[in-house]
Amino acid sequence: MANFFQDNADLRYYFERGVEWDELVRLTEKEYRDEGGFENLAEAREFYGEILELAGQFAAEQIAPYAAELDTQDNRIVDGEVVAPPRVATIFEQLGELELHTLTIPRELGGMNAPMLVSFLVSELLARADVSVMTHQGFHGGMAMAALIFSIHEGTTEVDAETLRIQKTRFEGLIRSIVDGKSWGCMDITEPDAGSDMAALRCRGELDDEGVWRITGEKTFITSGHGEWHYVIARTEPVTDAESPLSGLEGLSMFMVPAHVTDADGSVRRQVEIARLEEKLGHHASATCALAFDGARAELIGKRGEGFRYMLILMNNARLGVGFEALGLSECAYRIARDYAAERRSMGKTIDRHEMLADYLDEMKSDIEAVRAIGVTAAQHEEIAQKLAIQLRFQADLSEQARADLERRRKRHSRKSRRLTPLLKFVAAENAVKHARLAVQILGGVGYTREYGAEKLLRDAMVLPIYEGTSQIQALMAMKDTLMGMVKAPKRFLARLAEARVTAISARDPLVRSAARVTLASLSAQQHLLLSTAADKAKALRGKPLAEWPERFLKNWDPKRDFRLAMLHAERLARLLTHEVVVEILLEQAERHPGRREVLERYLSRAELRARHEAETIHEYGERILRSLEEPASLAAE
Ligand SMILES: Cc1cc2nc3c(=O)[nH]c(=O)nc-3n(C[C@H](O)[C@H](O)[C@H](O)COP(=O)(O)OP(=O)(O)OC[C@H]3O[C@@H](n4cnc5c(N)ncnc54)[C@H](O)[C@@H]3O)c2cc1C
Repeated sequence: MANFFQDNADLRYYFERGVEWDELVRLTEKEYRDEGGFENLAEAREFYGEILELAGQFAAEQIAPYAAELDTQDNRIVDGEVVAPPRVATIFEQLGELELHTLTIPRELGGMNAPMLVSFLVSELLARADVSVMTHQGFHGGMAMAALIFSIHEGTTEVDAETLRIQKTRFEGLIRSIVDGKSWGCMDITEPDAGSDMAALRCRGELDDEGVWRITGEKTFITSGHGEWHYVIARTEPVTDAESPLSGLEGLSMFMVPAHVTDADGSVRRQVEIARLEEKLGHHASATCALAFDGARAELIGKRGEGFRYMLILMNNARLGVGFEALGLSECAYRIARDYAAERRSMGKTIDRHEMLADYLDEMKSDIEAVRAIGVTAAQHEEIAQKLAIQLRFQADLSEQARADLERRRKRHSRKSRRLTPLLKFVAAENAVKHARLAVQILGGVGYTREYGAEKLLRDAMVLPIYEGTSQIQALMAMKDTLMGMVKAPKRFLARLAEARVTAISARDPLVRSAARVTLASLSAQQHLLLSTAADKAKALRGKPLAEWPERFLKNWDPKRDFRLAMLHAERLARLLTHEVVVEILLEQAERHPGRREVLERYLSRAELRARHEAETIHEYGERILRSLEEPASLAAE
């Protein structure tokens, strides 16, 4: 029997040894006090293992064999509603029976109460079979959890202070309808004239005479937009400072808009119009909708003007989800290419014995191991941080000492998740495109046909660097956090630099020395960017005591002027930062489990050279482009 979990040794490493399950499960199982829950770690892990076995088998046997069929049948609009093609409908009926959409929903709300990490691993398994099925599946349980998290944030969830069981939550009806398999949700953010630039959003939220919120405007590219529950971000306050690129964000609010409403006469009416289904390059099992709102009845989530904050909460888990989606696609591309290359003969041997192709396959394998390392680590930190926040908020019997300790742990996990998440989204998505392209190349002529599914992977992969924040936006976020981190804690940065310098020459283990050289390349590029980016500010800092840097540096910041070089090199920096974190994670694994040295060695053999190249480019390149941007746009276009 085919099983995508059983046949994947690297994934099983994480499940069996690589994940620190203890803390995660204790938090998820509320210190094993949860009624009807597991009594210990072993019981819980056995259950998670069963889920992964089940999902692995389902993906391999009930989705993957139909990938080509899923690719050629599109969703359609009939009488204003989206109708799924037969194969998509069958798969979602079966998924509904397996109840995988209830995986992370708390027991008291009808779910399985599994950690988010288990659901991300399931996502990888489903995505290896077909990314668009995984995506639509993600808009079921993921949107129910978003409702719960939103409600906790705005203070409309009541939790028993002793058992930490949820007693009441604002969106219980929504959550239960998803648990029952009757609905799903979607995130309505993008508009025709506002994608990456969220400050330009124009969809309006207005209070009518009866005090009811009404949404008017258009949303576009909405995945699973034929769902019942729409999280809509809309403008409730006017733009106050048209000059500031960020000012428009303050006037945004988050709403829950049900697709259907019941009128006074008892009739049910669709109030979110599905104006169009986008015709796309790939990703066909997932419906991508253009939506129109004309005074749709809405409920405000949180307070007016807090929309951007809620959107970030929504997008954070979604970015992790895309990381695992991309990973599943890469795994599929690698396996198609590897298996084909082991059979296909050319010039006296199978093509996997030709040097260049052997190198491609090794690179794909190593990239996949790296992305899984970041993904699993990021997901663990994010989940632990979120669950510690809930414990801190609701558990009454905590001593002051215990509270301070939990808060310290929460901050540490949250910091790590914030560092890793944009890098995961960035590198997983970029690699998926690269791997699909390599798979096509390795298969030669048949790679360009539909026969093996390689070209489908390339079409499916192309959206990954675009949605949930483009690669460029992820790189900018990582760059900004990194440079600001240096400014806020310059001593810490200098200590890391000094440590990396010493380790790079004095460590006994050659892999530790190589890892330190990767870190050094990254840190030296960061230092260069910081000093050159804000040249004027940095000049003014020279000679001033380090302790005064944060205060002086953070004042009067002009992103347009000060970040120019760093913005130019943000993607290069993101690649360097990725090498840095992957090496950290793999080194730690190799120390705990010597069998992982091989994974580290494989990664370092490329990462050190690449890091040097990226750092050198950051040091040497860029002036010409920046100069050209100083010319008026009309001249530059000539
Ligand atoms: C299949 C699909 C599904 C989607 N699902 C959803 C969904 O469920 N919900 C939703 O709200 N949206 C969804 N989207 C929309 C998606 O999130 C946007 O397309 C994306 O955010 C980019 O916005 P844009 O298309 O307007 O491109 P733009 O923002 O116009 O960007 C165009 C290019 O310019 C770059 N760019 C823009 N600003 C900068 C900058 N400051 N610095 C450097 N480069 C920059 C971008 O990275 C990109 O390469 C989906 C899109 C697709 C294709």
